Amino acid sequence: MNIHEYQAKEILKTYGVSVPPGGVARTPEEAERIAKELACERFIVKAQIHAGGRGKADGIKLANNPKEVQKAAEGIIGMRLVTHQTGKDGKLVRTVLVEEASNIEKELYLGVIVDRAISQIVMIASESGGMDIEEIAAEQPEKIWRESIDLTIGLAPFQARKLAYKLNVPKQLVNETVKNMTGLYNAFVACDCSLAEINPLAITADGKVVAIDAKMNFDDNALFRHEAIAELRDADEEDVRELEASSYGLSWVSLDGNIGCMVNGAGLAMATMDLIKLHKGEPANFLDVGGSASAEQITQAFKLILSDKKVRTILVNIFGGIMKCDVIAEGIIKAAREVKLSVPLVVRLEGTNVELGKRLLAESKLNVISADGLEDAARKAVMAIRQ
Ligand code: GDP
Ligand code: MN
Repeated sequence: MNIHEYQAKEILKTYGVSVPPGGVARTPEEAERIAKELACERFIVKAQIHAGGRGKADGIKLANNPKEVQKAAEGIIGMRLVTHQTGKDGKLVRTVLVEEASNIEKELYLGVIVDRAISQIVMIASESGGMDIEEIAAEQPEKIWRESIDLTIGLAPFQARKLAYKLNVPKQLVNETVKNMTGLYNAFVACDCSLAEINPLAITADGKVVAIDAKMNFDDNALFRHEAIAELRDADEEDVRELEASSYGLSWVSLDGNIGCMVNGAGLAMATMDLIKLHKGEPANFLDVGGSASAEQITQAFKLILSDKKVRTILVNIFGGIMKCDVIAEGIIKAAREVKLSVPLVVRLEGTNVELGKRLLAESKLNVISADGLEDAARKAVMAIRQ
């Protein structure tokens, strides 16, 4: 799960990360009021969307007084912000963060992630902050520093100091930088993050270390123990199909292709997408209906797939272990009757009650293309589109 910059900053602040004073506004008037309360010399008004790259896309504006803050907020709230991270449709801006502007002298990058290859949490730091870390990693890998962290010890002070020296932080600001690094790491662990990032962490002209931008992603599987964080979920920012699928207990990820997939088991779903790609097709979604889906869940899943106008064919690939093939067939038939099935349907069923499942489908008079085996199913799905 993702949250907004202003929410991440509120959390990080409680762990000792320095953030600029500010407040969040839903209207230009509210933005002006916040600016008046802040009573500082210069302000920054920032669009709040679940995507970065706002600076280059006019989603961030400087303002010299509360009236200018109001004007800036007027321009930003309600706009569809298109950045390199939003996709071409962009994202509707509903809120802005109004902050005291910082006089930035130097921008650093600071991030914490889990490195699965070494099963450890790693802090990543770079002197080339402000930019995308992927870009730095690709073009100037020598500018990226890493410290892997022993979970039982946490980020040791010497590790943070080492990173601060590598980043050429001025001597008198090393302790302050270490404090921010420690805060970021502690927040990452305490909140069960999958990513926590400050980009940029700024060194200011008046000798401060400040988190200018912040991003936190959370491990969905740990959200049950973070009620307050779970409440920060912003449904407006999420894929409607992913949200709806999760309300039925289905794992769904929207993709760009045109072959709708319904599979049981994450591994089989991944293998199905691989085979579709191998046959030069593109999956429209990843969908794992789970090991023991009900006919009702199958019906909902089927409707979700059909609600995607990009979908030109559907590939059902079920290996019935705990799952029974006749239940799948019933769900498909029910959904196809409720929603008019207008695209070819390729079905590969295998396992428990497979004969019964196939018979139900045959008797339903649905236009089903039956497949033998996974490879055959992927090939037939791709062929169905070409025809
Ligand atoms: P992003 O583009 O969505 O990652 O948004 P950021 O919050 O990282 O801002 C992008 C860039 O805007 C930063 O790298 C800074 O260069 C600039 N910026 C943001 N806030 C301030 C500020 O308070 N003062 C100054 N001078 N620049 C800022
Ligand atoms: Mn940023």
